Amino acid sequence: MRGIKVQKLHVKSSIIEKTGGVCAVCGRALVHSKVTIEHYIPKYHGGTDDERNLLSLCKNCNKSKGSRIVQAEEHYPFLKAVYCTEVNEYRTEWENGGEGNGNSKGK
Ligand SMILES: [Zn+2]
Repeated sequence: MRGIKVQKLHVKSSIIEKTGGVCAVCGRALVHSKVTIEHYIPKYHGGTDDERNLLSLCKNCNKSKGSRIVQAEEHYPFLKAVYCTEVNEYRTEWENGGEGNGNSKGK
């Protein structure tokens, strides 16, 4: 499915822009080919590929987060404020079970 791959690359660039080209967690400059795309709400918890839910991290940081759900402001200091807002917006929708993820009543 080449078409999808191209689209993904495009998405990747716009996600990297969210942090101005650095890892959202540690602030290290990201090499485009080595960026890992992080799901803020992990797929495991019903997160989707919604762009608001995606962040760029370096490999180390991506590994260390696992499938926890964290506070965006605390965990992603290098995420620009406007995208931080988007992420929180997405999280609220997710908590309200917007997409029928079977997890509507959070803890
Ligand atoms: Zn990092």
